[in-house]
Amino acid sequence: MKRNEKGPFHQEPLMEIKNLKKYFKTGKKEVLKAVDDVSFTIYKGETLGLVGESGCGKSTTGRTLMRLYDATDGEVLFQKEQVHGKKNLSQLKQFNRKVQMIFQDPYSSLNPRKTVADIIAEGIDIHGLAATKEERQKKVLHLLETVGLNKSHANRYPHEFSGGQRQRIGIARALAVEPEFIIADEPISALDVSIQAQVVNLMKRLQKEKDLTYLFIAHDLSMVKHISDRVGVMYLGGIVELATSNDLYDEPLHPYTQALLSAIPVPDPDIEKKRNRIILSGDLPSPSNPPSGCRFRTRCPMATDTCAQKTPIWKEAKPNHWVACHLF
Ligand code: SF4
Repeated sequence: MKRNEKGPFHQEPLMEIKNLKKYFKTGKKEVLKAVDDVSFTIYKGETLGLVGESGCGKSTTGRTLMRLYDATDGEVLFQKEQVHGKKNLSQLKQFNRKVQMIFQDPYSSLNPRKTVADIIAEGIDIHGLAATKEERQKKVLHLLETVGLNKSHANRYPHEFSGGQRQRIGIARALAVEPEFIIADEPISALDVSIQAQVVNLMKRLQKEKDLTYLFIAHDLSMVKHISDRVGVMYLGGIVELATSNDLYDEPLHPYTQALLSAIPVPDPDIEKKRNRIILSGDLPSPSNPPSGCRFRTRCPMATDTCAQKTPIWKEAKPNHWVACHLF
């Protein structure tokens, strides 16, 4: 895949991902190609949404970007420096401070035996960001307020909070080390619909206030639209389309994106009745044994013989609108 898609707002690149691969050995000869030759750039100050069905490799991509997994091949540059490979302790600490993650499950990602204050202050302690106990406490209380929680919550335990509140604690924990880039791995999937918008709005406000960059991973295209400047669509370990949110939703090019969008219900019953839903046949193939040529061909309503023989090239079909499909 070629890279170099331009940022729509001409920001400087914060993270550059070049031909990234992450394979897992699953048997003597079997290899699961969770992320297979993915290239894209994340620009400073933007929110890039990464969307796809479960098992498409979006979470593995996020985890590889922040070194939770080693890359099998390819490279990731953060502020022009290699993320993977050998680093000394101070380089690692610096990277871990600048890049934070918010996890999907606010129930299991918080240590149940620690108070909220200690959970939030973990990074402050590791990175020595508070000189005294008083300063540490002041920072924790300020962070609680920043994410819309009460100061009195500091000495409580995670089980005393609702799902939305726990996700707010997770966000406060990430913010504690003053990061520049946050990878949010399905941060709202486990929450009630009514709470999802609140968490998204909180993240949007924090982005403005703190000049944050987000990679927002989700399987739900509808919620991603409200937070993302650009959206990338993943299928079976590869990115098949990447465009600004408006372009992607108004004029999706890839048949897979079209199918995903057609599945989002429209609130107006008249429009909903007339809508043409694209139903994908077949199950997601195994990433251990992906189809030849275009990976989507076994489920694509537009597939031709060429699609089985040739891998589509990643190309800029329209300005800032990238797609991997022989139709373009
Ligand atoms: Fe469908 Fe062929 Fe395009 Fe793949 S390359 S998405 S199979 S038309």
